[in-house]
Amino acid sequence: MNSASPDLPPLREVIAKHGLSPSKALGQNFLFDAQLLDRIAAIPGDLQGRAVLEIGPGPGGLTRALLAAGARVTAIEMDRRCLPALAELGEACPGRLRVVEGDALAIDHAELMDEPFAVVANLPYNVGTALFVRWLGGEQWPPAWTSLTLMFQQEVAQRIVAPPGTGAYGRLAVLAQWRSAARLAMKVHRSAFTPPPKVMSAIVHVTPADAPGGVSARMLERLTEAAFGQRRKMLRQSLKGVPGAVEALEPCGIDPQRRAETLSVAEFIALARALS
Ligand code: SAM
Repeated sequence: MNSASPDLPPLREVIAKHGLSPSKALGQNFLFDAQLLDRIAAIPGDLQGRAVLEIGPGPGGLTRALLAAGARVTAIEMDRRCLPALAELGEACPGRLRVVEGDALAIDHAELMDEPFAVVANLPYNVGTALFVRWLGGEQWPPAWTSLTLMFQQEVAQRIVAPPGTGAYGRLAVLAQWRSAARLAMKVHRSAFTPPPKVMSAIVHVTPADAPGGVSARMLERLTEAAFGQRRKMLRQSLKGVPGAVEALEPCGIDPQRRAETLSVAEFIALARALS
């Protein structure tokens, strides 16, 4: 089956049947194009038999594509109105869709999943960014997830993959790149969504890499928070609030007169290591 399987009613019919008018408060912008959804589901690679955690399935468009790709899906959705539609989808794919009602920000994902899992999500901006920071932060590495395939506003996606020296480079880039590989996998035009959001979207794909030794994730977080919190200032000024950081700059070969956005991810790592 592909996600436009004749066994399943068209998504627009599902929406009408269950009265799922998109809620602005829940950031609901739905995708209906089956070909596009199949392309998104292909980004994490072969999903046959693999465990996938989907956040925010809504009426189930992306869920259909993941199931069609052979995944076993656990989906967390906080809009109760979507549950009957998702239950129907579960009946069409026995044993391969588990739906958890709740707020993904309040749920421990590693506890929910008892095996390594790929994360796939099309989420409202604020929820997506908060989860992204949680998935990439923390001292435990490698993480329980094997990849993240996440839809963001294009501007946020660009900040995640931004190289040093660019205006988009900041905390999100360092967080995404210091022990992971992050790439912009696909741009998605605003007209693909119902209703269309104001801005363009893009999908970022992240896979974990080896963590550099001797570096505390918390320390790196503090450094990037301070350095990019005052990104126009020189490091000797912006890092004053982190004990020992200004003194550690020169021994790490970093000129204190530089500004945060000129530091490579490797230089941030060296500084964090010196202070960890
Ligand atoms: N995946 C569907 C699609 O691509 O058409 C729906 C995407 S829509 C942009 C975002 C979905 O996330 C909505 O169904 C919304 O109810 C859900 N959502 C929003 N905040 C959430 C949260 N904190 N936890 C779980 N689901 C959430």
